[in-house]
Amino acid sequence: MEQYVDCSLCSIEPKGKAARCRRCSGMLTGRERLMHEIREARGWKYIATMLSAIAPGLGQFFGSRIFTGIIFGTLIPLGLGLLYVTWGGFSYSHFFVIGAAIFVLIVASADAWFGPTSPKAPCQKACPASLPIPDYLQLIANQDLEQGYSLIRTRLPLVGTIGRICPHPCEDRCFRGIDGEPISINGCKRYLADMRAMRLEKGSELPPPLPLLEDGPKVAIIGSGPAGLSCAFYLSVLGAKVEVFDSDEEPGGRLISTIPDFRLPKEIIRTEIEDLKARGVTFRSGECVGPGGTSVGRIFDEFDATFLSIGAPQSIKLGIEGEEAFTDFQDFLRVSKSEKPPKINGNVAIIGGGNAAVDASRTALRCGAKQVHLLYRRDMDQMPARTDELEAAMREGVKVHFLINPTRAILEDGVLKGLEVVDMQLGLVDSSGRPKPVKREGSERVMPFELVIPCLGQTVASTIFDDPALARLTRHKDGRVKVSTSTLRTSISGLYAGGDTVRGALTAVAAIADGRKAALAIFADIAPRKVRAPLRRQVMVRVPYGGHQESAKAKMRERMHSKPLSIRISGFQEVEEGFNHAQASTEASRCLQCHREL
Ligand code: SF4
Repeated sequence: MEQYVDCSLCSIEPKGKAARCRRCSGMLTGRERLMHEIREARGWKYIATMLSAIAPGLGQFFGSRIFTGIIFGTLIPLGLGLLYVTWGGFSYSHFFVIGAAIFVLIVASADAWFGPTSPKAPCQKACPASLPIPDYLQLIANQDLEQGYSLIRTRLPLVGTIGRICPHPCEDRCFRGIDGEPISINGCKRYLADMRAMRLEKGSELPPPLPLLEDGPKVAIIGSGPAGLSCAFYLSVLGAKVEVFDSDEEPGGRLISTIPDFRLPKEIIRTEIEDLKARGVTFRSGECVGPGGTSVGRIFDEFDATFLSIGAPQSIKLGIEGEEAFTDFQDFLRVSKSEKPPKINGNVAIIGGGNAAVDASRTALRCGAKQVHLLYRRDMDQMPARTDELEAAMREGVKVHFLINPTRAILEDGVLKGLEVVDMQLGLVDSSGRPKPVKREGSERVMPFELVIPCLGQTVASTIFDDPALARLTRHKDGRVKVSTSTLRTSISGLYAGGDTVRGALTAVAAIADGRKAALAIFADIAPRKVRAPLRRQVMVRVPYGGHQESAKAKMRERMHSKPLSIRISGFQEVEEGFNHAQASTEASRCLQCHREL
């Protein structure tokens, strides 16, 4: 018997068999879809907020958040009941009850405006880009790969890139993980991108992107990292004319400059940038913006809006004696991606516990280091690096030391000879929510190293902020730009900001989500009449739902093939080889489609 899925994205439920609408099935063009989303998000939020302002909880019910709706819905009747039971004439304490009722009305309305309006699977809730994960897994299981790829691109333009480097918080929340192994969601995403690339290689004809709008707005993007590329993609889909400025000769930001090829080959991001060029996005690479380059004021004059996404370009210093002899991790990773990677003879210390530290360790091994020691001042549970990447580094030969901290560099005639280190122990929880590492007295010792690379993260420091046109830009004490969280507008009219510039150094997928949010906000602000233009009537199409496997085997995830160890560390070729058809189909079929139960 045939089964069909509901339209999970727009909640349209036709009579009889459930179905998908044109938008969710990929039959609306990208531009129609985004226009629709801008209007729909506002419309739904407006209705939910009005309902909650009339009766707290109604807006939450409208958004399918039953539990929250019940809580808000019971507060005012409870208060009135209390008033009725204790009534003995008017007293000042009744002002408190009235004040509390008004407060509940305001909070319920604000919650209806800012809260989600439709049920999502746990994986989708955990995804910074809110990808429709169960839907694209279903499309893989149905062998509908082009539609699966298109569906991801509605929220994530760089599918092949993120399919390789995402820390996949979705997998930590996957329901399959409760009684087995979580779905390899990121592996499936990468599979869709790989299959699309293969189809293109074989000469598959794809419909050309919609031309830009003749009278479309002009938007400048400063910085071509993940946030900038994402903003450029969605603005070009909407029809805006976009120019991307970057001081580097090649666009891509940290994706092209510092993520090693063994995790993300340059060709992947280059292909995705070529797609942006084909959509009409202009890249002004090698053009510095700010003092000494193109002035920000000139950009403000030339363009209708500007998106600032310069990332977090400056490495954080250790602040210990002799650190001028250390090597900057961004410089090291950048050079290792060049035609002539550095040759290392000797022992290397990498200091830090993030993904960049693991990348630098694995890169140092490939550059010929005798031994690579990764020093981290907390223990493994608090390490922010991806566990699978850390395990891969350890398998390749990186020696990881936990609860150890450098205290000074050992120099002889200005030449680095080693590090004085000290053992640490975990103390009380600090402001980061993790136990604070405390020095173990008397544990100082020297470790011999020829090269030391601190990887402690980055800060948002750039000369662009000295530009007079940005004098009124409000920023946090640590340099991050202050923005409105819902629209990413800054304190300067027409200027938006997102990605690491706003959040501090974070994941590429979070930066990409910011780029999309900014694109929609920019377009809605500067081209409101185009957003209001009517869309064609939506038409239902049906997508078969094959159901999920319940066999014992379905509890275990598919393992991606990877290069043998000996080949891996002899060069910079990509380590993971991706899923084949059978693996991807089996893995996608394990999905429980949790949101259908919500
Ligand atoms: S089983 Fe599927 S829908 Fe449920 S959390 Fe995992 S990936 Fe998401």
